[in-house]
Amino acid sequence: MQQKNGGRCLCGAIRFETVGPLRTVTACHCSQCRRQTGLYYAATSVRVENMTLEGEETLSWYRASDEARRGFCSRCGSALFWQAKGAASISILAGAFDQPSGLVMGEHIYCADKGDFYQLPEDGVPHYPGDRPASA
Ligand SMILES: [Zn+2]
Ligand SMILES: [Zn+2]
Repeated sequence: MQQKNGGRCLCGAIRFETVGPLRTVTACHCSQCRRQTGLYYAATSVRVENMTLEGEETLSWYRASDEARRGFCSRCGSALFWQAKGAASISILAGAFDQPSGLVMGEHIYCADKGDFYQLPEDGVPHYPGDRPASA
């Protein structure tokens, strides 16, 4: 049987379902992610065709940069999605998934830009000062 995972925003207007395995979680500590979430962005990723969406009329997109857009619920404000321009995959915030999610932390990126009020967890996964090395 194929793996399925579901999740939703805080108010429930937006629901999503994914099929197939989920990528390990990338935690991004850049200033854009910090400001959007108040802490850092922790997201898995799936190919666009492996995700179905309900409540799309409530979904808003914000472009913090030319590189990517950030999807959030316009009713409750939950941050949900991140998508690089023209990408075949979409990042989904790990915290939006119904529990147990089965998700596993994979890496921390842009650690050099992290907020000064918390410490990185000693979780044994790579911590990169900027983006992940191109080969990874
Ligand atoms: Zn909502
Ligand atoms: Zn970021």
